[in-house]
Amino acid sequence: MQSDIRESETIEFDSRKPVAIVGAGLAGLTAAYFLRRQNVPVVLYEAGQKIAGLATSFHDQDGFTYDFGAHFLTNRLAAATGIGAHCRTVKYYGETVLLRGRTYSYPFGLLQVPRFLAGGLASRIQPVDEKRKNSSAAEWFRASYGRELADEVALPLLEAWSGAAASDLSASVGNKLQNSIGQTLSLKLASRLTGRAVACGYSHEMPENPSVWHVYPDGGLGLLCQKLADELENAIQLESPVEEILVDSGRVQAIRVKGREQAVSAVISTAPCNILPKLVKGTNVLQPLSRFRFRPMVFVNMRFQGRGLLPDTVLWTPENEFPFFRLTETPLSMPWLAPSDKTLITVDIGCNVGDEIWQMEEERLGQYCLEHLKPIVPDANQRYLGCRVLRTPIAYPVFLNEYEAERQKFERSTGVEGLYSIGRNGEFDHILMEDIYWQTLKKVRGIVGALQH
Ligand SMILES: Cc1cc2nc3c(=O)[nH]c(=O)nc-3n(C[C@H](O)[C@H](O)[C@H](O)COP(=O)(O)OP(=O)(O)OC[C@H]3O[C@@H](n4cnc5c(N)ncnc54)[C@H](O)[C@@H]3O)c2cc1C
Repeated sequence: MQSDIRESETIEFDSRKPVAIVGAGLAGLTAAYFLRRQNVPVVLYEAGQKIAGLATSFHDQDGFTYDFGAHFLTNRLAAATGIGAHCRTVKYYGETVLLRGRTYSYPFGLLQVPRFLAGGLASRIQPVDEKRKNSSAAEWFRASYGRELADEVALPLLEAWSGAAASDLSASVGNKLQNSIGQTLSLKLASRLTGRAVACGYSHEMPENPSVWHVYPDGGLGLLCQKLADELENAIQLESPVEEILVDSGRVQAIRVKGREQAVSAVISTAPCNILPKLVKGTNVLQPLSRFRFRPMVFVNMRFQGRGLLPDTVLWTPENEFPFFRLTETPLSMPWLAPSDKTLITVDIGCNVGDEIWQMEEERLGQYCLEHLKPIVPDANQRYLGCRVLRTPIAYPVFLNEYEAERQKFERSTGVEGLYSIGRNGEFDHILMEDIYWQTLKKVRGIVGALQH
């Protein structure tokens, strides 16, 4: 596996005090794999019955595949983890926005709308009031893209996605998601010229360029995690939730699993960071994290007869007549995810745990989506073949201004010696799999250094 981590030759680590890793998703498996290569004893505890966490694909008996969160990874990550030969190239990926009954491709089509172009140009020419721009996500998007594009497209999508008013969200949301317009245009152009879905706005840790494109592993995204797990032999304990992380004098000492205490040299957690205050005993320094919110989502995977029902792989719907904000027809990019004469549209609906949408049963959700799909796919009813619903209470971290200072502090450290929080929900960050992999590698280097001292 590719990394610039060299195997440790001289240091002997105490095997009675392994590093405990909480969670066998991509982050936990990557950390375990590279610590092992450094001869650091590790035990990887997974609460569930299976590895892979959010990088899980589901297959049904009718030949459809639904991915839980991730839809694809990059050829660079596939090569780094040794699964490149088992991946198919994604040849095309496109996004459009539906506004006032018309669709506009992103970004070329939107840039041709005179009011968006004028607003965007004005925002470039006018002097920027940095203090105002950084006061909220609403101000950040208006200053960066112009008031018209922000108010009609970006902010309604941001609000549906996060479940919070854009004025209550921190400006870091924009900084995290941003790619410059110039870079976006050049990568989209490279996609057209090469006939490959060149990654754009996907990876921030490593540079994006025309030689980094999307791929899909044979059998689903879990292959990546399986490959890492294969190298870990007996270090993974399934159905073993970490119940407590015991801290003394500001340093991690042990964990409790299935009622039993295990001394550890460090803990690397990939669990959602807002549960750490409940897990960690012996200090209150993590208490501010309990306010951090994740946005729950319901994904309605609707199966249809035919293909090409949406104008592009992704259709964004910023107008509030729609209860969803994004529709994804994955087989337009990855034809193998549905039988050749059929298709799949994933409908993303933001909600709250326990609300009407969250509780709605599968077939009713399908009918609810069908009704709202009519303006987009007029014969959706006749084509409909049923749906499969996936729900998660922790789809996206919500960057509220009210805890932005604590979030930035947490970004630097957990405040407990020997406790590291990594991965998407562990770091409370909008990161995708490639960033998780490279960021985890970087952190593992730091952790090994700390253990050696
Ligand atoms: C809607 C959505 C779409 C996405 N699309 C893409 C995409 O197209 N491409 C892409 O690259 N990425 C995508 N991602 C992101 C990608 O899926 C995640 O970044 C990645 O899979 C997260 O890995 P992780 O290891 O950080 O966390 P997880 O996969 O969440 O793993 C954490 C693990 O910890 C376990 N755990 C929790 N608490 C405990 C405990 N106390 N004890 C033991 N185990 C515990 C959980 O059971 C879980 O298995 C998407 C994510 C979402 C939500």
